[in-house]
Amino acid sequence: MAADVDRIRELTRELLIALGEDPGREGLQKTPERVARALAFLTSGYRTDLAKVINNAIFTQSTNSMVIVKNIELYSLCEHHMLPFFGRAHIGYIPTGKVFGVSKLARLVDMYARRLQLQERLTEQVSQAIMETIDARGVGVMIEARHLCMMMRGVEKQNSVMVTSSVLGTFRDSQATREEFLALVGTRPA
Ligand SMILES: [Zn+2]
Repeated sequence: MAADVDRIRELTRELLIALGEDPGREGLQKTPERVARALAFLTSGYRTDLAKVINNAIFTQSTNSMVIVKNIELYSLCEHHMLPFFGRAHIGYIPTGKVFGVSKLARLVDMYARRLQLQERLTEQVSQAIMETIDARGVGVMIEARHLCMMMRGVEKQNSVMVTSSVLGTFRDSQATREEFLALVGTRPA
C-alpha cells in the first residue's frame, strides 16, 4: 500500500499552523509537499518486499567460515519521537551453502530501517531475516547508533552511542563463535 502523500501533506500544513507558523510564508509554501515525500521515502520499508530486495543475489558457496560485513550505514526513525537515529550495522553469519551479495545486506538493513523503529527491534529483524533467507548456521548483528531524540532534547547526551546486538543459531549457542564475531566487528563509536 502506498503512503498517503496527499493526506500527509495536508496534515503537515496543519502541523505548521499548530506550531504557530504561517504555512503561507515563502519559505514554507512547499514544505508540506517536501515533508510528505520525505516521510514516504523514510517509511518505504513498510512497502518493500524482502523477496524482491534479495532477488537473485544469493550465491552458492561451500564455505563454512564466518562472513563479516562491517560499517553498513544506517538511518532510521525512532518510533517514540519520529526523530532520526543513525549509525552503523555490523553483520556476521556462518553460511550453510548460501551467501549474500554484499550490497544486498545493505538493502536488507535499509528495508527494516526505513520504518518507525526501535533499535532493538531493528537489530532482531535484520538477524532473523538473514537467518531465514539463507538458512544460516548462525547470525550476529550489532548496531551502534546515535539518537537525535536524546541528542537534541531530553537528556541531551551528545556523545552517547546505543549498542544493540542480536545473535541466533551458533552465535547464540557457542561462546567461541560469539567472541570471534565481536572481535572481528570490534566496537567503535558510530
Ligand atoms: Zn526517540
